[in-house]
Amino acid sequence: MPELPEVETTVAGLRPVLEGRRLTRVEPRRADLRRPIPEDLRQRMTGARVTGLSRRAKYGLIETDRGDVLVFHLGMSGRWRIDPSEIEKHDHLVLETEDDRQLVLNDPRRFGSLDLIRADEVDDFGPFASMGPEPLGEEFTGQYLKAATWDRKAPIKQLLLDQHVVAGLGNIYVCEALHMAGISPRRAGAGISRPRYNRLVEAIRQVLASAIAAGGSSLRDFVQPDGELGYFAKQWLVYGREGEPCRCGAPVMRRVDSGRSTFFCRKCQK
Ligand code: ZN
Repeated sequence: MPELPEVETTVAGLRPVLEGRRLTRVEPRRADLRRPIPEDLRQRMTGARVTGLSRRAKYGLIETDRGDVLVFHLGMSGRWRIDPSEIEKHDHLVLETEDDRQLVLNDPRRFGSLDLIRADEVDDFGPFASMGPEPLGEEFTGQYLKAATWDRKAPIKQLLLDQHVVAGLGNIYVCEALHMAGISPRRAGAGISRPRYNRLVEAIRQVLASAIAAGGSSLRDFVQPDGELGYFAKQWLVYGREGEPCRCGAPVMRRVDSGRSTFFCRKCQK
């Protein structure tokens, strides 16, 4: 499942192909993904020039010179393919640029989404309206996190997955960052000191940045013909390593809460 670093890498991979280019073909190939694809997508985007690409939480944003923003979410299985040799069954959107590059959005499980909004309405767009700060942005600090959670009895892991507290953090990165910061996933938000929150914010930034760097180094492959954007392998400290030794020698533990796995070390995380 694509997480924030994969989306960041995807946007970085799309940028050299799309930025500054006029779109000569925009073709949705079905009416809906998780929700309907805007009916006027083709009409509003065909002939428009892409002026910029960015990311908000786990959404990618493609801006045009007509003041529109195409917002994509990769859901569980979405990925972009660049210059594919052929259009496949699960390619749900085809874009072509004036220099004959072709991009397709492929999503077999269709949990992703495509929305077209006005550039001045981005902050009010449903999923973004009440979203917390970006974990890699300046607003996200130990002080912010302490202020956002000082009276919260919920476990810190649950708070970090809450999009109102911080945007776009998924299960893998939360497990890894809590491990790196030495904080038990079960500790109540209110019971974590400011210095420990500072360490946690640093850990979150570090774990995301190293995943983005790993994705960046594999970008070369994506931009080859038939390249795929969106996924890369990464070696985790605790995630998916139940029973294997932690760096301290103790076995990595796994617990399942409401269908979601938590991996942690009892000895390193208090
Ligand atoms: Zn350990």
